[in-house]
Order: sequence, then structure tokens, then C-alpha cells
Amino acid sequence: MSSQRVSLKPWNTFGIDVYANNVIIVHSVESLFCNSWTNGVRQSEPVLLLGEGSNVLFLQDFRGKVLINRIKGISVTETTHTWLLHVGAGENWHQLVETTLCKGLAGLENLALIPGCVGSAPIQNIGAYGVELRQVCEYVDIILLNDGSHQRLKATECCFGYRDSVFKHRDKNHYAIIAVGLRLIKQWRPVLSHGALKMLNPKTVTPIQVFHTVCETRRSKIPNPKYIGNAGSFFKNPLVRASIAFNLLALHPKIPYHLNNNGDVVLSAAGLIDQCKLKGYRIGGAAVHDQQALVFINTGTASSEDIVNLARIVRRRVGEKFNIWLEPEVCFISSQGKIDALEVVR
Ligand SMILES: Cc1cc2nc3c(=O)[nH]c(=O)nc-3n(C[C@H](O)[C@H](O)[C@H](O)COP(=O)(O)OP(=O)(O)OC[C@H]3O[C@@H](n4cnc5c(N)ncnc54)[C@H](O)[C@@H]3O)c2cc1C
Repeated sequence: MSSQRVSLKPWNTFGIDVYANNVIIVHSVESLFCNSWTNGVRQSEPVLLLGEGSNVLFLQDFRGKVLINRIKGISVTETTHTWLLHVGAGENWHQLVETTLCKGLAGLENLALIPGCVGSAPIQNIGAYGVELRQVCEYVDIILLNDGSHQRLKATECCFGYRDSVFKHRDKNHYAIIAVGLRLIKQWRPVLSHGALKMLNPKTVTPIQVFHTVCETRRSKIPNPKYIGNAGSFFKNPLVRASIAFNLLALHPKIPYHLNNNGDVVLSAAGLIDQCKLKGYRIGGAAVHDQQALVFINTGTASSEDIVNLARIVRRRVGEKFNIWLEPEVCFISSQGKIDALEVVR
């Protein structure tokens, strides 16, 4: 039976000290379905599936069981022009990036050092340095938890968008991602459009050089959750109509931005927060990181309330100054499960 006292602190990178009734590590689809999840669903006990807890904020104790997905396995098949990887959802994403590069399979190097599991990557369509998961995703395998049947969603059925996919909108109790298929094209084309990668020579650069440049840049900019609790970018970068964005940028030319495919402007949320002079701003044990304004940190004693209060203030300051209202990227988890984060910080 549940103990009421299993700490979730090791299972969320914010390092929030909350508890669950139980924490179960699942190593196979069978144990996920038969032993853990179905029992929970049948008993109407809340059940939460986690990878590495690097994109969640627990608001309070979770009144149910947490399943830690460690379904492993990587297999590679080859066609004339591509490598197709079938990867268990519980594999660590960064280790996958390293493993593929070591085998001479390029294509994931821009996504190095993103924390979390492979199975979580499609949920928010992880992205960094000009590459998103959708560019390499071939399919996502899920199990339906009401009957145990399996489904394969082609990439087009995943409806990938900026930090978005069909999985963000499905009923969380009804499915679990169990594997992801990735297609890497043998004729490698480097993506050097962002940050320090722009300095590399496209004619001579290697995938390993891109990998090291991404790792070095990330290590210098983003606090390591092993030492400083955080969940990466707290808010999404806002998408703004070009006419509005360029008026704003004329007044605040230092805010970084880029155009998306529709001609809308993606403004840097970090830039907006920075313009409000909020770097280092602190509430209780929570603070805006002093070098990376989009990352909120747990200075050691933060409660989830501190982080939510900080998010509300940052959102309000940015909204009042620019009339742009930021939306959380991090998933908020209440005592019963995932809830609408925007409602909480409004
Ligand atoms: C330091 C740092 C840097 C980051 N940088 C980036 C970045 O550059 N780009 C980026 O896109 N993200 C970034 N993130 C966010 C995070 O790494 C990603 O969102 C990652 O994919 C989350 O993986 P996870 O396994 O930790 O997911 P978790 O936090 O464990 O889970 C996230 C959500 O997915 C659900 N879930 C987890 N696994 C499954 C499954 N198998 N089936 C169904 N639902 C599931 C959970 O219930 C939860 O709602 C960063 C985070 C940190 C801490």
C-alpha cells in the first residue's frame, strides 16, 4: 500500500521537496501497463508518468503514484540514404545524441545536452540551436491505457509545433509514449544558424564540432540542475504579429528575435524579461537566473509557491511593459495531476 512519504525531490530537476504516495520505476511496457498504470487507473488513484522530471513543477504533494519510465533499447536499421532509429522512451536523450555520434550517425548534435528522456522529447517537440525534434521524428509509439493496445503515430499525426504536439492535448491518463522512431539522413547538412554555431565554417565543420560547440555554449549559459535546481526555460518565446513586433523592436532594439515561416516574429522571452531588469530578481528561495533571464532557479530553499509567485511577477512586469503575456513552458502538476499552468500564473 502507499506510504504517503516517498520524496519526489530526486525526481524533479527544480528540486522541489514534495511527496507522492509511491514511486515505481518501470523497465518494460508490460510492467508499465499491467502492474502499475492500469491498477492506478482502475483504482482511480492519480498516476503520473515521468521521464527525468526536467520539465515539471510540482505545486504540492502528489496524491497518487509516480511511474518513472526506464523502458530502454536502441536499434538502428539502414536504408540507402538514411538511418532509422527505434528508441525506447526511457533512454536518456543526451546519451542517445552521444551514442549516435560515436557510431558516426549525425543529425542530433544541435540537440545535445537537453535533459530528459527520449519519450518526453516529442511531447513539447524539444528544440535548440535551430533544430527541433520534428525534423528527425519518423513516428511515436504509444500504448493506450484503457485496453493496452499499441498505436504508431506518424510524424504528421503528431501535429508538431513550437514546444507543442498532439501529446500536450491528449488525455494524460489514456496513453503513454513507449518508443520513438527517428530518421537521420546520411548526407549530413550542418545547421549553423544560431548562436556560437554561426562562427563555424560550413565547408569544414564536423558533427562532433557542432556537438562540442553546443555543449560548451549550453554549459556556459544554462545552470546545471545537478547543482542549481531549474527546469530550463520557464516561459515559451512569444509569437507576435510582425506589425506589432516591429513597433516594439523599434523602441527596444536590443530584444533578440527571429522570423518564423509565416512571417510572424518570435521574440526572445529572455530578452523581454531582461529589459524589465529582472535578472537576479528573487522571491523567497526562487530567483531569475542572473545570466539567463528565462531560467528560474531554486536557490536551495524554494517552495513551489515561491516559483509560482516569481512567475506571476515576471509575467505581470513583462505584460505591463510590452503588452505581451508570456505562457509557461513548464508543466504544472497538482495533487491530482497535470493542470493548466497559464491559469495558475495569470
Ligand atoms: C537545464 C535544462 C535545459 C533545458 N533545455 C531545453 C531545450 O534547450 N529545449 C527544450 O525543448 N527543452 C529544454 N528543457 C526542457 C526539458 O529538458 C524537455 O522538456 C524534456 O523533453 C523533458 O524530458 P523529461 O523526461 O524530463 O520529462 P518530464 O519532466 O519527466 O515530463 C514532462 C511531461 O511529459 C509527461 N511524460 C513524460 N514521459 C512521458 C511518456 N513516456 N508518455 C507520456 N507522457 C510522458 C509528464 O507527465 C510531464 O507532463 C530543458 C530543461 C532543463 C532542466
